Amino acid sequence: MTEYAGYMGKLLLIDLDEGSEREYPWTDKDRELYIGGKAMASKIMYDNFTGREEPFSPENMIIIATGPVTGTFAPSSNRFDISSLSPLTGITASSNCGGDFGFYLKKAGLDGLIIRGRSDRPIWIEIQEDKVSYHEAGELWGMRTGETQAALKKKLTELHGPKGRYGMVSIGPAGENLVRYAAVISGERAAGRAGIGAVFGSKNIKAIVASGNREVKIFNKEKAMEHHKKWTAALKAHPITGSQLPRLGTAGLVSTMQMRGQLATRNFSAGRFEDFEKVSGEALAEEENKGNTGCLSCPIRCSRTVEVDGKKVKGPELETLGLFGANLCNDNLNLVCRWNHELDELGLDSISCAGTIAWAMEANERGLWDNGLKFGQVDNISRVMEDIAFRRGIGAELAEGSKRLSEKYGGKDFAIQSKGMELSAYEPRRAVGQGLGYAVSNRGGCHLNGGYLVVLEGLGLSIDQQTPKAKADLCMFMQDFMEAISLCGHCLFTSYAVFPGFLISKPNSPMSRLVNSMIPHCGWAVRMLNKFPAMAFMNLPLIPYTYELKYAVGMKMNIGRFLRIGERSYNVERAVNAKFGVSAENDKLPKRLTKVLQDPKDPKSKVPLDRMKATYYKARGWGENGLPGDRKLKGLGIK
Ligand code: SF4
Repeated sequence: MTEYAGYMGKLLLIDLDEGSEREYPWTDKDRELYIGGKAMASKIMYDNFTGREEPFSPENMIIIATGPVTGTFAPSSNRFDISSLSPLTGITASSNCGGDFGFYLKKAGLDGLIIRGRSDRPIWIEIQEDKVSYHEAGELWGMRTGETQAALKKKLTELHGPKGRYGMVSIGPAGENLVRYAAVISGERAAGRAGIGAVFGSKNIKAIVASGNREVKIFNKEKAMEHHKKWTAALKAHPITGSQLPRLGTAGLVSTMQMRGQLATRNFSAGRFEDFEKVSGEALAEEENKGNTGCLSCPIRCSRTVEVDGKKVKGPELETLGLFGANLCNDNLNLVCRWNHELDELGLDSISCAGTIAWAMEANERGLWDNGLKFGQVDNISRVMEDIAFRRGIGAELAEGSKRLSEKYGGKDFAIQSKGMELSAYEPRRAVGQGLGYAVSNRGGCHLNGGYLVVLEGLGLSIDQQTPKAKADLCMFMQDFMEAISLCGHCLFTSYAVFPGFLISKPNSPMSRLVNSMIPHCGWAVRMLNKFPAMAFMNLPLIPYTYELKYAVGMKMNIGRFLRIGERSYNVERAVNAKFGVSAENDKLPKRLTKVLQDPKDPKSKVPLDRMKATYYKARGWGENGLPGDRKLKGLGIK
């Protein structure tokens, strides 16, 4: 039970070995410290894991967690998180997903679901308010995700009649065949990263369905609705959330990245692709887009619809467009749209899949592994993806990811991964703060968990891309801020609107130039705020999240508390990783990014990682080993 609105007050633990369900203890004090989402999941892992668990062992947990604003009709607030030990990295991983499953889990009366153990046969799990049912999934096993969800809808209609409304997550063949970067798919959205689909497969779970009629309470309805209105208007008025994202989706970033030298090209050996215009957001809008869609309660609607084989399906986002376009030297947009759909159907993470294929192309080119894959020759990619999902031929090897392959064949210097997870589409030698973020990110090569500094280094603001100055402090700040946003259930894209619109729409105005030139000199101020967030005891209209927690949830909140919650989340995740042997040694990037210049004539065009890393650990109050000590964990109330 809980005194707070927004929450349903219950976490359910399902033990598949025992065939039992029980409530997992979680108090209002825990809610104040961790809010929800991945922080809640990390704390559960911290309390339960010893460091000896394996990703595919029954002791591993799948934790599906929502945030308190989900279901309150706040703008862009229906995301949920799935956490587990990752088969790709062996450490904690969380994957955030849009769609409506989080909303329906709350309608079923749950803030989260924890699953451990292993079923002895394929099943799908149905959560209907207080009732949990386990259904045979033998006939669903082997199906693609779209077919699975259609078959489940049919079954649910047979079981409960045609009027029911449900949220679903399911895996495809990749998850069943334990591909290390298998995704979980919900409707047309993906919890793509880190292989959590394979953890579902290892537990013989094909799908989970949630439904119910519980009410998500709102603390102060009048104030909350007034706030939602203002926030929606601000999102619609902002140049990124009101114009660029609805018009071009995240794919709109391709052209900016090209201009800045940040577009990963030919397995990150360059930052510009000469045919980028053919695989840009503008080309997608002109040639392929059939309309916009979006997650529940989102005014931004960043998702594109395209046509594949006469069927309207979700179009590619930036990551798929960049990594299956420029990074494979492919200029065929129509093929990227097709692959994007096939990746979701097979249940594969597009980032790791593309990163692994790019590594294999280069390994073939260099004579390390004769696999038939070549940059720019892409007629066979559909078959390769299918072979990966079913672990056939070279697909069985590609299913292991680039780190393991480079350990077997050589070519570690150009395996573009960190902690075993392939990097997203931003080339960090032209966004060195993003490079630091990739290296220190708790889940491995992730732009978001790494603090998404590229948004300051060219994609939103335009601060110096090459300077390490202030980047460590900004990295910590952005990581903590974004963690806190995500824990509530909000979409991180709303955070673009935190930057005053004129800085983005008028980058060359004297004021914008001044702000951009000043930021690298303000590391000391960011560090003070990071160290003493209580100084920020106020709320500001530009930061709508704290008001949302006050009005919709009834939680005392200000910017300082909010940042501290983000910091706690980052530290508890790090503390879980420490149990699995992670330390400063693991916070690294491949040599291509730290030792090889992107432009031989520009000595600054590489990531000065060691220098930034040392400052980052200090800023975090961690030891030189890159870990929070007992004092830090106690100070944050984790230990
Ligand atoms: S901005 Fe895009 S990803 Fe975020 S909630 Fe809206 S539609 Fe979903």
